[in-house]
Amino acid sequence: MINLIYVSSAVKTFNEAELLEILKVSRENNSKQHITGMLLFKDGNFLQVLEGEEAEVMKLYEVICLDPRHRGANIIEKSKIVKRQFGDWSMGFRNLNDDAVKSLPGFSQFMNKSLTLEEFSGGLNSCYELLNLFRDN
Ligand code: FAD
Repeated sequence: MINLIYVSSAVKTFNEAELLEILKVSRENNSKQHITGMLLFKDGNFLQVLEGEEAEVMKLYEVICLDPRHRGANIIEKSKIVKRQFGDWSMGFRNLNDDAVKSLPGFSQFMNKSLTLEEFSGGLNSCYELLNLFRDN
């Protein structure tokens, strides 16, 4: 199995219903392909972690890259894993612009971070801390 983490940018402003539509389709498709993960959205940028068999994950990533609703997908991590970190979610989701998220204990250190390639170019520790914060809450 592998995990793959990428960031991308929405091509337009997304409302909650449009985000939930992506999520609904993702959950339906991912559970059939035994893919798990988490999708984060903040200020027009996406960060998504996908976990599963390499062939399935890469096939899905190709489909996602072709989706006209976002652009500039860049992989920031692709590595072999022996155990899923997001096994409970066919696709977890958090909109980091939500007030409820902003008041989550531990989130304040991420308040000014963006979900971009530049943000994580120095290392992925903060990326994993962010993902784990939502996995554990
Ligand atoms: P449908 O949902 O019926 O889509 C058919 C085609 O229409 C696809 O090419 C799709 O890209 C396009 N399309 C659908 N709705 C719209 C719209 N509102 N505007 C423009 N084009 C549209 N899919 C997953 O299965 N798993 C994921 O984890 C996943 N994560 C995603 C993360 C992001 C940031 C984005 C933007 C999309 C994600 N998707 C994910 C959706 C993915 O890109 C495909 O749309 C989806 O997998 C296609 O599902 P489907 O074959 O059931 O076809």
